[in-house]
Amino acid sequence: MVKICCIGAGYVGGPTMAVIAFKCPAIEVAVVDIAFARIAAWNSDQLPIYEPGLEDIVKQCRGKNLFFSTEVEKHVSEADIIFVSVNTPTKTRGLGAGKAADLTYWESAARMIADVSKNDKIVVEKSTVPVKTAEAIEKILMHNSKGVKYQILSNPEFLAEGTAIEDLFNPDRVLIGGRDTPDGQKAIQALKEVYAQWVPKDRIICTNLWSAELSKLAANAFLAQRISSVNAMSALCEATGADVTQVSHAVGKDTRIGPKFLNASVGFGGSCFQKDILNLVYICECNGLQEVASYWKQVIRVNDYQKNRFVNRVVSSMFNTVSGKKIAILGFAFKKDTGDTRETPAIDVCKGLLGDNAHLSIYDPQVTEDQIRKDLSMNKFDWDNPIHLQPMSPTVIKHLNVVWDVYEATKGAHGLCLLTEWDEFKTLNFKRIYDNMEKPAFVFDGRNTVNVQKLRDIGFIVYSIGKPLDG
Ligand code: NAD
Repeated sequence: MVKICCIGAGYVGGPTMAVIAFKCPAIEVAVVDIAFARIAAWNSDQLPIYEPGLEDIVKQCRGKNLFFSTEVEKHVSEADIIFVSVNTPTKTRGLGAGKAADLTYWESAARMIADVSKNDKIVVEKSTVPVKTAEAIEKILMHNSKGVKYQILSNPEFLAEGTAIEDLFNPDRVLIGGRDTPDGQKAIQALKEVYAQWVPKDRIICTNLWSAELSKLAANAFLAQRISSVNAMSALCEATGADVTQVSHAVGKDTRIGPKFLNASVGFGGSCFQKDILNLVYICECNGLQEVASYWKQVIRVNDYQKNRFVNRVVSSMFNTVSGKKIAILGFAFKKDTGDTRETPAIDVCKGLLGDNAHLSIYDPQVTEDQIRKDLSMNKFDWDNPIHLQPMSPTVIKHLNVVWDVYEATKGAHGLCLLTEWDEFKTLNFKRIYDNMEKPAFVFDGRNTVNVQKLRDIGFIVYSIGKPLDG
């Protein structure tokens, strides 16, 4: 029986391994992590992450061929294939601070693999890493090898949170990069056989190591760039009376462009887009490609601009002050169908409004009060000017309520900001909400999910990204 071990039981490691275990009953899969609470949650009825369909497959495989454990060294030493899916955040200090990927977790995983391995291993980069990381990993493993042979593969993950299981069941492509040597090709073949259990062969792409590593950064940069492009267009729409939904539709009908990822919004979030673009910027700078670096930087600048623009619109619409006014925040996660709040635009929007002394009442169906308070008490890391900042003063975040009901959140509010496109927000009783709000009652839709005319007919003053403004 082939044994797989995945180091890192997070948003990628957990779902990816659950799907491998589900699709390959003959493979034993152990997912290991140093975070005890996370592993305990994976072994409980309350999984540590929310993903539609995940609970079902974990329940079917757990204890049969899928195991979650903190016995990291034991499972690593027994495995034939080791996936490394640890976090690779942006460095916050030292060389490359604010841009470069922090590979501390990766390096310590690699050293541990070298320490405990007694038989030859295939080590798979599942985390998103800078191009050429495999070279560094090879050095660490080879110089500590005690006779064990390693093959490093790059197999970046393209799943999107919120649709992780669907994406893993039916991926657009699986990318495997390896060395162009007989052993490298043998390793590629071994990993290919795992995926071939359910992924059509023509969707499994094999490349050299560096192409695979760089493709992941490139894919995220292209996706984020599309969002910033449509968001930049949304500002122009507001200035001219064009409607960004109509513009996106017209533009996306061009088959060379296509319709996906053209929704204007308050900005992109999530743990990956900004981090991976910063990483790309750093790699460009290190290679003397300043013009290319500044091209990609602009994608993040436009994203920051969009979030600020939204806050400014809220404040200026509400007679240039939100001081002491209750504002309901609907949605805090960075997108629907996830409880993940990493880099969510809601953090910047809420901080902007709190900074103007607004009183916030926040509702999100999947995010806990603890998480929201933690996110808002951390200061944003300024990637353009990387210095360590102090947490926000607790007196500012005391004007914060987290509630478990939309109607409670909006009761007595002067304004309502819709920041995550949860499906349940499409069917809200806006008449009831309007009746219980202060007048004039404002709606600021950061996701273009409400029916603007319907809300205006009720009596709301409505701002929706990239749409013609209320008279
Ligand atoms: P995560 O923070 O949710 O999970 C990483 C886990 O690794 C944590 O639980 C941490 O405790 C564990 N870990 C760190 N060092 C360890 C060690 N030495 N031994 C054992 N466990 C260790 O991160 P994530 O969202 O799953 O992302 C992981 C990687 O995948 C990142 O590089 C990310 O960029 C990439 N990625 C993420 C997504 C996504 O949607 N989240 C999608 C594609 C790729």
